[in-house]
Amino acid sequence: MRIEAGVATDIGKVREANEDSYLARSPLFAVADGMGGHRGGEVASQLALEVIEELSAGGEGTLGEQVRQANKAVFERSQADSKVTGMGTTLTVALVEGGAVKLAHVGDSRAYLLRAGSFRQLTDDHTLVAKMVKTGEITAEEAEIHPHRNVLTRALGTEPSVKVDEKEVPLMAGDRLLLCSDGLTSMLTEEQIQAILGSAGQPQDAANRLVRAANRAGGVDNVTVVVLDVSDDPTGSDDDTASDKAPSALRPSRRSIKRWLLGLGIAVIFIAAGTFLTHAYLERQWYVGTAGGHVSVYEGIPATPLGIHLSHVVYESSVPAQQAQSLTLYANLQEGLPAHSHDDAFSIVDQIRRDVQSAQSAQNGGASTGNGQ
Ligand code: MN
Repeated sequence: MRIEAGVATDIGKVREANEDSYLARSPLFAVADGMGGHRGGEVASQLALEVIEELSAGGEGTLGEQVRQANKAVFERSQADSKVTGMGTTLTVALVEGGAVKLAHVGDSRAYLLRAGSFRQLTDDHTLVAKMVKTGEITAEEAEIHPHRNVLTRALGTEPSVKVDEKEVPLMAGDRLLLCSDGLTSMLTEEQIQAILGSAGQPQDAANRLVRAANRAGGVDNVTVVVLDVSDDPTGSDDDTASDKAPSALRPSRRSIKRWLLGLGIAVIFIAAGTFLTHAYLERQWYVGTAGGHVSVYEGIPATPLGIHLSHVVYESSVPAQQAQSLTLYANLQEGLPAHSHDDAFSIVDQIRRDVQSAQSAQNGGASTGNGQ
């Protein structure tokens, strides 16, 4: 297989920094969308790609293992440097090898395949709304406009270990692959993305047009795309994937990656992973639900898979849950309204309190003291 690549990244129209990073060193390609204050997002996405690039160049481990090492490196850096505590990144990596593409993925960046006019997403989003679509709580259309659609259930570097989605997809000549950050998919519909991918000539042309379209649609986030065209290798040699035309690029390495990371042993990470660590991550999530008959703030997520409790109440307000649930907006309060943060959760409770009060004064024909704000 021969690969021709086009890449583009842009800060967008709103953000103050570009925290996305990409890697295009054929046959290895990736996008990473970093998050965290004080440039933490930039550090996280770059560091993750540096680790992958270096381990891959050294032929060390499988793609999935390299991603787990990247997770460890980002996590350890965030522990060691208080300026970037809590940073993390998404990571979607593609390795073209032996007539197939190997994918490793964490977060809500995406990989797509355009083949003979059909367009499909190869990765699953690790977001709360994707989970809600899966369980049938909301539709895919509702997920696209859900206020909390960017809440991640999995990220790279936020915990000592991470579960990595891995898959291998056989390739055919004529295939066009897309790796992209959510700055593209939150701005354009899949139909729009497919239309641009399907009509653009060279992969670089496709990449440029996708980024321009995202910016025209508002550009509210950093946007990064990698477009890969697959063709038959005229020499018939499979290991000659690095064509002359494929750009080779990695954002400059700030310092080399510590080799000893691998030596620590992947097995140990496997054993340490599991419920406890998952739980530790979930504890940083917030949502508003009901407890003791009142509107309440929870830490964790509103789900009990396998009967394991993934949340606990941190605040029970005086607002009766029944009154809140009688309002259409909060009818499903029992299932939990996800919040971005502790403060966000409390402001949702305040909003519910105000809505309940104004509904009551409306019911009383405005004869009350008129507390509706
Ligand atoms: Mn993003």
